[in-house]
Amino acid sequence: MASDKTAHFQNETDSSESSASNLLESTRKVIKEALEKLGYPDEVYELLKDSLRMLKVRIPVRMDDGSVKVFTGYRAQHNDAVGPTKGGVRFHPNVTEDEVNALAIWMSIKAGIVDLPYGGGKGGIVCDPREMSFRELENLSRGYVRAISQFVGPTKDIPAPDIFTNSQIMAWMMDEYSRIDEFNNPGFITGKPIVLGGSHGRETATAKGVTICIEEAAKKRGLEIKDSRVVIQGFGNAGSYLAKFLHEAGAKVVGISDAYGALYDPEGLDINYLLDRRDSFGTVTTLFKNTITNKELLELDCDILVPAAVQNQITKENAHNIKADIIVEAANGPTTIEATKILTERGKLIVPDVLASSGGVTVSYFEWVQNNQGYYWSEEEVEEKLRKVMTKAFETIYNTAQTRNVDMRLAAYMVGVRKMAEAARYRGWV
Ligand code: NAD
Repeated sequence: MASDKTAHFQNETDSSESSASNLLESTRKVIKEALEKLGYPDEVYELLKDSLRMLKVRIPVRMDDGSVKVFTGYRAQHNDAVGPTKGGVRFHPNVTEDEVNALAIWMSIKAGIVDLPYGGGKGGIVCDPREMSFRELENLSRGYVRAISQFVGPTKDIPAPDIFTNSQIMAWMMDEYSRIDEFNNPGFITGKPIVLGGSHGRETATAKGVTICIEEAAKKRGLEIKDSRVVIQGFGNAGSYLAKFLHEAGAKVVGISDAYGALYDPEGLDINYLLDRRDSFGTVTTLFKNTITNKELLELDCDILVPAAVQNQITKENAHNIKADIIVEAANGPTTIEATKILTERGKLIVPDVLASSGGVTVSYFEWVQNNQGYYWSEEEVEEKLRKVMTKAFETIYNTAQTRNVDMRLAAYMVGVRKMAEAARYRGWV
C-alpha cells in the first residue's frame, strides 16, 4: 500500500510475544522507579502498570477475491485520569495485545512530558497492509472503526497514525465515525489530510521536535549548531526531515544510514542530493559503493548522534565506543537500560525517546484543538507553539535530572508520570 511508513520495522515489531512483553516489563520498571523517587505509594504503581481498558475486536472484511477474512484488532486505554486517551493505530502482522498495552503506557508518559490534557491510548490490527489492496484496506479501516466506535470518540479516546497507517487511513476512519455519529466529526482522529481538518506541520512534527531538543541540548553543552557534526541513523520520515532541518541550520551532517548501510563524509554529506534520491521507504545508501556499516556509523567521531531507526542500537557492547557528546533518541527504545547507565557515567547527555519524539503527539493535540474550535493555524503558528511546548519540557526534565541526581530517562519518566498520578489521586482513585 502507498504508506510513508516502511517495511523496516522488524526490530520494533519483531513479533513476538516475548519482545512485546519485554517492552512492557521494561516500561513498567522505569515507571515503578519514577513513582518511588516521587514518593508515591505502591497502589499508584498498581494502577498505572496496566491499561485501564483493553478492547479486543474481530473484524470481518470482504476481500477482493470474494472471500471473507476475519482480522483481530485491539484498542487500549491506559489511563484517563487527566483527560481522554490518545494514541496511534498500527497495522502490522506482529501486533500483540502486550505490545499495544505497552505502547499505550508510553503514550501516557509522553503526554505527561509535554503536558497535554490526555492520557495514553494505542490501537493495532494484526494484518499485513503490504499485501492488501487499497479497497481491502479501506474496508478494514472502516470495519475497525465500527468495532470500536462505542469505545472511542473526540472526548473519550482519539486515534492517530502509527506504523503502516497514514493520512488516507485516518480519512476513511474519520468518515466512518462521522457516518455512525451522523455529523461531521474531525476531532475523532488526528493525522488527517489538511483538507479534512489536518494540521499544518503534522508531517514534520516529530523531526521538528527532535531538532528543538538538539538545539536545547547543544545550548547546555555550549555547542553551536552551525559548528556541530551530526550523525543520524535512519533516513525515513524522522531521520530525513531531521537531516534537512539540521543542514538548513548550518550543521554538518557527516553520517546517515538506512537498513542497508551508512554513508560517511567528514566534510559533510550533500543532504539535498540524498533527500532527492531517497525512496519512500527511507532507502538511499544502495545507490553508493563506498558505504560503512550501521555499527561503524554509531561509533563515528561527531558531536551529536541521533538514532532515528529501530530499537536496541546502543547496547552495553558499543556504549563504551560512542564518541558523540549528545545522544538524542528520535527512535523508540534505541538505547538499552545498561547502555544508558554506561553513557551517563561517561558524562554523555542523553535526550530520551519519550521526550525527543513527542513532537508528533504534540502537533496531533494541536490538530484536535483546531478541530474543536473550528479555527485553523498557519504552519508558523504551529511551529511556534511546538517550540514553546518542547523547550519547556526539555528544561523541566533537564532540571529534574540535575536536582534529583538521576539520568535524563528516569527524569523524563518522573515528569511524565506525575500529572497522571496526581490526577488519579484528586479523583480519589488511589
Ligand atoms: P521510517 O520507516 O520512515 O524510517 C526508518 C528508517 O530506518 C529507514 O531509513 C530504514 O531504512 C532505517 N532502518 C530500518 N531498519 C534499520 C536498521 N536495522 N538499521 C539501520 N537503519 C534501519 O520510520 P520513521 O517514521 O522515521 O521512524 C523511525 C523511528 O522513530 C521509529 O523508532 C519510530 O517509532 C520513531 N518515531 C517516529 C515518529 C514519526 O512521527 N515518524 C514518531 C515517534 C517516534
